[in-house]
Amino acid sequence: MAAVILLLSTFVGATAAATAPADDTAQLFARADAIKMLDNASYVALMEQLELRATTLSDADKWHLRYLEAWQTAYLGQNDKATVMLEAIAKQATNDNLREKARATLMNILGLGHRYEEAFAYMDQALDDLPNVNVSQTRQQVLGEAAQLLIEAGQYDLAINYADQLLLIPDAKQYSCIGMRIKLGAEFLEGPHTNELLSRLESAADACVADHNILSADSLRLYIAALKIEQDRSNEAIALLQSSYAGMLKLQYQDQASQYDLLLAEAYWKQNNVAQAEKYAVTTVDLASKGHFAEPLSRAYQLLYQIARQKGDLRDALMYHEKYMSADNTHLDDTREKALAYQVVKQQVDAKKIELDTLNKQNKILQLQQALDHKDMETSHLYIALLLTILASIAFWLYRLKRSQLRFMRMARHDGLTNIFNRQHFVEEADPALRQAAKSMRCASLVLIDLDHFKSINDNHGHIVGDHVLKRVVHVCQRYLNSNDIFGRLGGEEFGILLLECTAEDAIERAEQIRRAIYAASSDENPDIPVSASLGIASTAHHGHDLRRLLVAADEALYRAKRDGRNRVVINISGYNGAGFNTTGTDERKATDHTSKTRPGSEPFNYATDK
Ligand code: GH3
Ligand code: MG
Ligand code: MG
Repeated sequence: MAAVILLLSTFVGATAAATAPADDTAQLFARADAIKMLDNASYVALMEQLELRATTLSDADKWHLRYLEAWQTAYLGQNDKATVMLEAIAKQATNDNLREKARATLMNILGLGHRYEEAFAYMDQALDDLPNVNVSQTRQQVLGEAAQLLIEAGQYDLAINYADQLLLIPDAKQYSCIGMRIKLGAEFLEGPHTNELLSRLESAADACVADHNILSADSLRLYIAALKIEQDRSNEAIALLQSSYAGMLKLQYQDQASQYDLLLAEAYWKQNNVAQAEKYAVTTVDLASKGHFAEPLSRAYQLLYQIARQKGDLRDALMYHEKYMSADNTHLDDTREKALAYQVVKQQVDAKKIELDTLNKQNKILQLQQALDHKDMETSHLYIALLLTILASIAFWLYRLKRSQLRFMRMARHDGLTNIFNRQHFVEEADPALRQAAKSMRCASLVLIDLDHFKSINDNHGHIVGDHVLKRVVHVCQRYLNSNDIFGRLGGEEFGILLLECTAEDAIERAEQIRRAIYAASSDENPDIPVSASLGIASTAHHGHDLRRLLVAADEALYRAKRDGRNRVVINISGYNGAGFNTTGTDERKATDHTSKTRPGSEPFNYATDK
């Protein structure tokens, strides 16, 4: 049962009373639809009764029975088999309603199977045919699945739009909890995280509890908890999650359980309760690796890495960092795959529309030609002009298609806000560059930049100002880059620069220039919004040419810069012995501290070596 999918389970049919006598085929179908999730054993029994009548069923009923069988197959987690069954229904069923239901279920299970292009193609067909369907349950199922899929592709506005349509369906009352959960989920993921959003999430969670839809209530609680953790209200987040924890476990949704554990881990970490944070991070890893839930897995490893780092356990830190990077890449791949699949399908649909358009135009020309022939006129010039128009219009559309393809390629590699490389592409570029540098025995240095107290800029001036600051910082950094440097946004307010052919000493100089410029730019433009950054450096001279090791070492230096008071540059010069950090001695924390040079922002240049 664990393989059942979130949405499948939430669209419980409510069209018929579960108590109707089972003496008539139509009623058997209605009951089966109504109880399929509430009481799966009875559902199977009803299906068996219907199967016994198979030979006497009408064509439409036979398709309906096949749909029930396909649904049960998906419920049992046999998604490949269910896909084949549902595809036949989506193509061949005589009834619009059934075809739509099959498509909606297909969207769900194809998405789960990472077959995003097919999922989006079914979404497109289902939305096209939706006006022909007037069964409320089917309409809301299609809209709900479409909204959910669009959220996955990062198309939040469209998702909100479909969730709104779902909420407008007459007798949508029983679906309003699901609709709200999807809509608010999209709003949460899109941001900003305002108090107004928080209070709408809280009312929706209450409404879902009142509706006995615990699964949706728990999803909403996850958003509420995440928002509270951001607002430094970790106590409240923990209380909320713990109070609903036992009920959540009963539902047996591993995906949701892993998210509960992850948020608990992050909340305890914020409270400096390291033991609890570690405990929940470990259970998150356990659940998330079993279910291949890339995002919770990557965040849990990141937390375990931070915990190990704080404990001074550098061997574990390195191990967790590698796992974090690898899980994070999987997560980013998956996110990118979904976004691209959406775009690919959108383009195919656009291309088809262009084709139709062109055919229509050709038709018109033929008609014109006939008309002209009739009138026996001098037509050659007109023909040429018309043909040229068609050719020009085709060329124009092809050009637009090509241009949008290029734009999507770019989108997949670049960060939407700042337009520099995203994390994934930064790694893709930096990895081979470092290998090349190793081959030719040239040095390179990695600089990590993290803005100081950036959260309070958002809190005090709003997200839009925060975004503006991020763009400005990127602009400032770009002024100090050489053409072969690799620059990317590695996370929210964290950036990386790989300085090629740059020694550790030069890297300190250049990082210091950047630090000063970020600080100066903020005071010139917006004296009331102080912006500063902490920078951590790791150089190949000390840590070798492996990107992951450089990232860990630079992160260590960055952490040190934060601890020492921020707005400063720190280089990690701890020796690299070929097998990781040099962590000999019992007091590993001190061993690294010895070897960090920290350079505070205050002038003049002053190396303070800590002992
Ligand atoms: P520290 O000095 O320790 O780095 O503190 P901090 O506040 O910078 O760090 P923290 O990690 O607590 O907060 C980072 C904040 O960055 C939280 C998040 O809301 C914000 N953020 C992340 N991405 C974006 C973005 O794209 N736009 C805006 N405006 N804010 C963002
Ligand atoms: Mg920061
Ligand atoms: Mg940060």
